[in-house]
Amino acid sequence: MAIALGLPGYRGSQLFSWIHKRGVTDPEEMTNLPRELRDHLATLEPILPMKGGTVLRSSDGTRKLEVVLADEARVETVLIPDGDKLTQCISTQVGCAVGCVFCRSGKDGLKRNLTAAEILGQIFLGRGEHLSGERLSNVVLMGVGEPLHNLERVLSAIELMGHPDGIGLSSRRITLSTVGIPSGIDRLAKATSGKTALAISLHAADEETRKRLVPGVSASLVDIVKALKRYPLPKRRRFTIEYVLVKGINDRDVDARNLVRLLSSLKVKVNLIPLNPHDRTDLMPPDDGRVAAFQKILTSRDVSAFLRRRRGADINAACGQLLA
Ligand code: SF4
Repeated sequence: MAIALGLPGYRGSQLFSWIHKRGVTDPEEMTNLPRELRDHLATLEPILPMKGGTVLRSSDGTRKLEVVLADEARVETVLIPDGDKLTQCISTQVGCAVGCVFCRSGKDGLKRNLTAAEILGQIFLGRGEHLSGERLSNVVLMGVGEPLHNLERVLSAIELMGHPDGIGLSSRRITLSTVGIPSGIDRLAKATSGKTALAISLHAADEETRKRLVPGVSASLVDIVKALKRYPLPKRRRFTIEYVLVKGINDRDVDARNLVRLLSSLKVKVNLIPLNPHDRTDLMPPDDGRVAAFQKILTSRDVSAFLRRRRGADINAACGQLLA
C-alpha cells in the first residue's frame, strides 16, 4: 500500500504496525501519521474490506461473528475460548464446492474465493469481540470453504499472520483443515516447509462411503495418504484426522477397523465428532454408546482418538453448522 502511495519505507512500517499489530484500520486513529496522509487515506477504499454483522454468543463462551463483505456476501468466523487459549476459526471462501453432505456451508455450492485481506480481516474483526485479557493463541482455517481450493490467497494470509511486526502467530499455531487434495497438500508443504499444522477431514475409510459423504473431491483415500506421507511433518507433530460420525453411514465397527488400517502408516490423532444436527440435513449422530464403541476400537489398536466437545452448538457455530 505504502509503495503504491509513493510513501517512504518507514511510513509503510508504521502503517503495517497500525493495521496488523494493533488492529487499527481507521486512518484517523493512526496518530503518528501526518494529518495530510491520514486525510488522504480516508479518501481511499476502506482498509478493512468488510464489516461485522450479527454476533451470537453461546452459553459455553463461543462467539460467532457474521462477516459482511464489501459486495454484501457473508461468511462467518468463530471465537472459541479454552482456558487461557483463544482459538479463532476462519473462513476462506464464500460457500464451498465440496458439498459435504452434513455441512450447511456447502449446500449452495461455491460463490467465490475470499481475498487474503478478507481472510486476515476476520482476525481484526474478531478482536472487537475479545473479552478483557483474551489474546488470540491459535487460528484454524476450518470455517466456510475448502482452503486448498483458494491456496495462493490462503498462503498470503498465513504469511501475514506470522509476520513478527504484525499478528506474530507462528505457523505451528495455524491449522489448515482440508478434505484432502494431494496437489494442494504438496504445494502447502513446499510453501510452509510443513510447519502449518494439517487437519484432514476424512469422514470415511472406504471409497464408497467417502464419495457419499464428501462428494466434491476426486482424490482417492490412498492418494491422500500418500500425500500426507510426503508432507514434511516436524518431529513430535501429528496430523489431525477429523471424522464426523454419522448414524448408520460411517459408524460401524468395520468402519473403525478400516480407519485403523488406512492410517497405520501415519502419525495421527483422530478427532471423532458426532454429527451436529442442523436445519439443512436429515442425518443424525450415532448414540453415545455407538460413539464410545467406535472410539474404543481405535484406542485399543493404539490410534489416539478423542471425542471432540461440541462448542457453540446452540448458536450453530459447531463444525458443519456455519452458513455462507
Ligand atoms: S465441511 Fe468444509 S469442505 Fe465440506 S462442504 Fe463444508 S466447508 Fe466445504
